[in-house]
Amino acid sequence: MRQNFVAGNWKMNLTLPEAQALTSEIVQMMHDELTGPAPQVVICPPFPLLAGVGHLLGDSGNPALGAQNCHQKESGAYTGEVSAKQLQSVGCKYVILGHSERRQHFHEDDALLAAKLKTVLAAGLKPIFCVGESLETREADETFDFIGKQLKDGLFHLSNEEFDQVVIAYEPIWAIGTGRTASSQQAQEVHAFIRERVAVAYDAQAAANTTILYGGSCNAQNARELFSQADVDGGLIGGASLKSRDFVEIVKSF
Ligand code: PEP
Repeated sequence: MRQNFVAGNWKMNLTLPEAQALTSEIVQMMHDELTGPAPQVVICPPFPLLAGVGHLLGDSGNPALGAQNCHQKESGAYTGEVSAKQLQSVGCKYVILGHSERRQHFHEDDALLAAKLKTVLAAGLKPIFCVGESLETREADETFDFIGKQLKDGLFHLSNEEFDQVVIAYEPIWAIGTGRTASSQQAQEVHAFIRERVAVAYDAQAAANTTILYGGSCNAQNARELFSQADVDGGLIGGASLKSRDFVEIVKSF
């Protein structure tokens, strides 16, 4: 279902007490300040903090709990890894897959991500699947080819029913954590391209129903302009999700 949507990716930040304080502030501000229909909000803490944060989110499903990654196998001898079923058992509803930091630092490729998607969906979790080009790729004028390939090789093997559960995040690598945001026009043209690719791979209805987020230095100042674009349904937020006031202002930017 296409919906207004904001997810906070806390990356490898915060201790449990810090994470719980931030969560309580976000929940309270959303309760006090949101008028009208709320966007779907998802908070994605690091693995060890999931349960402790999840306890503070309440039963409404908004905010929902999400993870930042998970292993492609169901279970087994994979020391240090975390399974989709374990995430589901501590209350996760969403999992970020294919973040550029995982692709870059942990060499996650499209084939691996394709396998992770299947495992996550089989456990009843909803993937937030990230795509996005490097500065080099953009400057070589290859952005659309590159993203088209990430979608085709990583995502479009899913059945229609599986694809229904997926949220896509467009995150240009050059904008992540750099303070250099894509212009709303740059974001819109890639989002429109992604939606068009979904229509070709599935059908027009799937394209109309897909939630597509923008991520990359999105903040309380630029969110409203980005979210006002026809094909931008919200944001995946890194740095600004670590400050309750900034994050809730983004949540209110529709
Ligand atoms: C991210 O890491 O998903 C992200 C968008 O980070 P930032 O908002 O800090 O650029």
